[in-house]
Amino acid sequence: MDVEYLSDSRARSTHPILSATRHFYGKDTEPCIISDFEYQQWYHGTGVSPKDHPGNELLRVLKSHLPGSRCGYCESDDVLVIALQGCVHPMSGDAYYDYEIVCKQCGKFTSYSYAEND
Ligand SMILES: [Zn+2]
Repeated sequence: MDVEYLSDSRARSTHPILSATRHFYGKDTEPCIISDFEYQQWYHGTGVSPKDHPGNELLRVLKSHLPGSRCGYCESDDVLVIALQGCVHPMSGDAYYDYEIVCKQCGKFTSYSYAEND
């Protein structure tokens, strides 16, 4: 697959990137639902705007990063979140997330990943 890594935490492609979006995107008919996928709880769907996504209530770190999401190609903030998962490790307290956006301007995909390790 033609995924281009922009940094440790950001990648872009003309096609869906994360395994959850490769699995669900194009088949979902609702904007945002949650289901088990690969042993994690994933929000997925046709997409909701980053500031309205329930992920903002999931992790403090998501609330500080998610609303500012921009397309990895054209830098537009006119994007939809099409998949997201986040959790806090029960032992270490480290926070993890992955999410992917599709750009309403150019139609391309950008994924964001995060692991807080001290
Ligand atoms: Zn774009």
